[in-house]
Amino acid sequence: MKQHENHPTLMMIFGATGDLAKRKLFPSLYKLFEKGKLTDQFAVIGVARRPLTNEEFQQSIKDSVKTAIEKEDRIEEFASHFYYHSHDVTDSASYAVLKKMANDLDEQYHLHGNRIFYLAMAPEFFGTIALHLKEDGLTDVKGYKRLVIEKPFGHDLESAKELNKQIRTAFSEKEIYRIDHYLGKEMVQNIEVIRFANAIFEPLWNNRYISNIQVTSSEILGVEERGRYYENSGALRDMVQNHMLQMVALLAMEPPIRLTTEEIRSEKVKVLRALRSIDGEDVKEFFVRGQYGAGTIDGHDVPGYREEPMVDAHSNTETFVAGKLLIDNFRWAGVPFYIRTGKRMEAKSTKIIIQFKDIPMNLYYRPEEPLNPNLLVIHIQPEEGITLHLNAKKARQNEVATPIKLNYANKGMNGYNTPESYEKLLYDCMRGDATNFTHWDEVALSWSFTDKISHVWENTVEEHFPNYAAGTMGPKCADELLEKDGFFWWPISHMAVEPC
Ligand code: NAP
Repeated sequence: MKQHENHPTLMMIFGATGDLAKRKLFPSLYKLFEKGKLTDQFAVIGVARRPLTNEEFQQSIKDSVKTAIEKEDRIEEFASHFYYHSHDVTDSASYAVLKKMANDLDEQYHLHGNRIFYLAMAPEFFGTIALHLKEDGLTDVKGYKRLVIEKPFGHDLESAKELNKQIRTAFSEKEIYRIDHYLGKEMVQNIEVIRFANAIFEPLWNNRYISNIQVTSSEILGVEERGRYYENSGALRDMVQNHMLQMVALLAMEPPIRLTTEEIRSEKVKVLRALRSIDGEDVKEFFVRGQYGAGTIDGHDVPGYREEPMVDAHSNTETFVAGKLLIDNFRWAGVPFYIRTGKRMEAKSTKIIIQFKDIPMNLYYRPEEPLNPNLLVIHIQPEEGITLHLNAKKARQNEVATPIKLNYANKGMNGYNTPESYEKLLYDCMRGDATNFTHWDEVALSWSFTDKISHVWENTVEEHFPNYAAGTMGPKCADELLEKDGFFWWPISHMAVEPC
């Protein structure tokens, strides 16, 4: 087994009986354990209200790992590191027990006082937990203390500021790890490598050679049982404020002077600062919203958003957003970044398409068979890879060009070798690498951008909702957004990466 640096850690997971912990955190921790990235010097305390014995909790760990992973030879040994504390996070008295438990485990496993507090529960508790951790002495350690926080980080800029203020009473900015799991994705992390490690791309990565960039993140699933959360969120808050703007920042940032957390974050922040603010009347020029109606997916009829459980029958919540972003700086002036994301769409896919400008006089241009522009496609999920669309000679026909594709399919296809986002992010957190977590400045700038759009949308009822059928690529107005600029969305269905 490959030897890794040792990172002794006590992890406290608040919300350890919840969906996120079971589906993502436990299997990811197991993978780290199996790969030797988590040594014997670790212990986990699971916290939630329901009464469970340690044995019952350990059984739930084994079950969740077995559901997610085929090979789990060391599962018994792994599960023995897990302990449970039944605790209502609003009950002050119970933190003393938690502290004692943490100190004992620290001693037993030689954890050097290193602590990670993972808040895998509803955000309304974050402030209370942070405050108690400090006041009741759980953060009083001689090692490091780190706080991992799930999205959503606030509901708008004001609530995000309030939440930040609360957690900052107990943790410094450097100790706060705000999760955006897109930043843990292999191909999102690859954006920087593709850009900054290839001589052929970086010189072209600007408004002289790129005509537009399209970022699509579509889901087939509807809101399922998350109607209550989604009614208060919508696609703009759920996807654009975080994941979509983070991808745009990585695509548009200047090369950092070195690959450190501070330098990379500082370049991303500059992009968000240069993002043209869309306000008032401009919102309908630059952004469109959609809500799915009933439709057919894989031959099955599915209900519309307004028929989903816990959704208002007259809901004004958007399940789809498309927008045109402009970055007002020297590199990007005049290049639209189109983003779109939605639920109940035709395909589950996250792709970035960089469309290059046409060459001024293409000798192979034929009006009856126009040539495609060069495209660089970055396949984020579920496929992982890169495709470069070029034009080449058509066999046996001189002077006729035909589109060809150069494909790179990441070996991690179908999820085999590629580590899960959470696996990478948990390991980064243990190592103290916050590069792939969002800094407060990024969160604040993203909220101030999306708040102006939500303000307009919340104050105008969209009479045409529902405006797209489930199983389609969104409303017609999303196509018109590009058509008025002379562009169109490249069909996702024709963009598959072919395995090498
Ligand atoms: P969940 O399934 O509803 O789990 C909530 C957890 O919190 C449970 O373990 C629950 O256990 C515990 N809990 C609730 N009230 C408590 C209290 N007063 N004191 C102590 N424990 C309490 O939620 P989830 O889906 O795992 O999501 C957790 C967080 O991650 C949320 O912020 C969510 O937005 C975010 N998130 C989740 C996902 C995902 O895939 N699930 C993805 C991205 C972000 P008891 O009932 O036993 O107390």
